[in-house]
Amino acid sequence: MFIIVFIYRGNTRFVSILLNATRLRLWYWAGIVTEMLERKTTISTEVLHVLEGASSPLSVAQIMESLDEKGLRPNKTTVYRLMEKLIGKKAVSEISVRNGTAYYELSKGHHHHHFVCNECETVFCLDSCHVESHGINLSALLPYKGFQIQSHDFNLYGVCEPCLSR
Ligand SMILES: [Zn+2]
Ligand SMILES: [Zn+2]
Ligand SMILES: [Zn+2]
Repeated sequence: MFIIVFIYRGNTRFVSILLNATRLRLWYWAGIVTEMLERKTTISTEVLHVLEGASSPLSVAQIMESLDEKGLRPNKTTVYRLMEKLIGKKAVSEISVRNGTAYYELSKGHHHHHFVCNECETVFCLDSCHVESHGINLSALLPYKGFQIQSHDFNLYGVCEPCLSR
């Protein structure tokens, strides 16, 4: 820039046009970056809204359907990456189900387990954890004494009432 200013010292009009063009280009890129960041936050906020409004844990496909209704169409990889980030921040919990699909729910609230309908694949939250409410000592089940439990998973599988009465 300094070199250009030096060369065109005599032609201030040209320099001012050049400076304006650079400024415009900067504004243009700043605008794109801002828009990208805003879009990212919007999707993140909207995913949290979708999960908050859901009556049961949702898969990425279901989350994407809800985003689509709001006019947001991020690609699958973006949503999966976002879910990883939200899990890392402990804002969202992942529920692994036998059919291989991962379901997501907001982490707020107590530890609990789930019922999975084999027909409609809906995941229902159970009120509590039977291990905790019955004071079951899981360590007693360990194959060796030196082992240590860090977490546990428990899903019930069956058919939900709406599917049964269909
Ligand atoms: Zn069902
Ligand atoms: Zn749940
Ligand atoms: Zn439990």
